[in-house]
Amino acid sequence: MKEKVGADVLILGGGPAGLTAATYASRAKLKVIVVEEGLAGGQAATTYHIANYPGTPGVLSGKELMNNMIDQAKGFGTEIHDLKEVVSLDLQREVKRIITEDVEYEAPVVILATGAESRRLPAEGEADFRGNGIHYCATCDGAMYQDAEEVIVVGGGNSAVEEAVYLTKFAKHVTIIHQFDHYQASKTAQEEAFANQKLSVIWDSEVRSIVGEKHLTGVVIENVKTHEMSTVEANGVFVYIGMQPRTTIFAEQIKLNQWGYVEADDEMRTNLAGVFVAGDVRSKTVRQVATAVGDGAVAAVNAERYLASQKQR
Ligand SMILES: Cc1cc2nc3c(=O)[nH]c(=O)nc-3n(C[C@H](O)[C@H](O)[C@H](O)COP(=O)(O)OP(=O)(O)OC[C@H]3O[C@@H](n4cnc5c(N)ncnc54)[C@H](O)[C@@H]3O)c2cc1C
Repeated sequence: MKEKVGADVLILGGGPAGLTAATYASRAKLKVIVVEEGLAGGQAATTYHIANYPGTPGVLSGKELMNNMIDQAKGFGTEIHDLKEVVSLDLQREVKRIITEDVEYEAPVVILATGAESRRLPAEGEADFRGNGIHYCATCDGAMYQDAEEVIVVGGGNSAVEEAVYLTKFAKHVTIIHQFDHYQASKTAQEEAFANQKLSVIWDSEVRSIVGEKHLTGVVIENVKTHEMSTVEANGVFVYIGMQPRTTIFAEQIKLNQWGYVEADDEMRTNLAGVFVAGDVRSKTVRQVATAVGDGAVAAVNAERYLASQKQR
């Protein structure tokens, strides 16, 4: 028998968007539960520094920023139920339901804040070496490469360039492999990368396969202009080639856009009454902590208004 737990607002996902929504809704004296499949903090907690979140003293670690958000939400009464694997949810009924292995949650409002995750490297052997040579989080796994001869970073946007610079703290040398002949990262990130003696870049190239038996020993890359194939030796590979929305569990119940992100209006209302969305999982153009928390605030205020209107019926 599953335990039954009721709330005013259920929030799926405990990243910046979910935690901000939780803070706002809890301050409005609503009973709020954040259901999180991992540990609260989201992607932001996995980045080693955040320098562009307003109101913070310069550069601070993502973990520190997110711990502050967790404490703030809890301080207003939010319950965070982490390490909960959601097995199903029902968003289409009036009283929404989120079911985990041991609990059946019910509430008239659900805020979807499940964020996004890294796109997997589309290269032969990726699945065999994932977590053991192929990584998606430098903050989590970078220290494994202390004094390693060579680490590869795949990608050329902000995350790739910033995390490559971070990895030079551990590895003796880091090579970025990028499919274009220039970075997409910000000027500041690029300047930092070009000035770093331990960092070099191979342009116009994509990783085709992973080389190694028990351990990863390198990657085979293809120059996308000349189609020449070559092998680059390395001890580990970190991948930053974009994100994909985390919607698998509810994709069939709600309206998504053509790229799989949840559609919503400016008030964070989805096509389902009582279901709001916030953060990276929402259809929008800028995915940052600052935009996630903005979405979270708007979703919570409108959730509160929705609950008030339901009571008046
Ligand atoms: C390496 C890296 C560096 C970054 N650097 C910056 C930066 O410097 N500045 C900046 O502003 N932004 C940065 N970002 C982007 C920023 O982290 C995201 O925009 C922000 O975290 C989005 O917040 P979110 O709450 O929408 O989603 P997320 O942070 O993705 O959080 C979603 C949460 O939902 C949980 N979840 C997912 N599916 C389920 C489910 N089915 N059930 C329960 N829980 C679920 C996840 O475990 C996660 O905790 C960076 C991102 C990365 C990956």
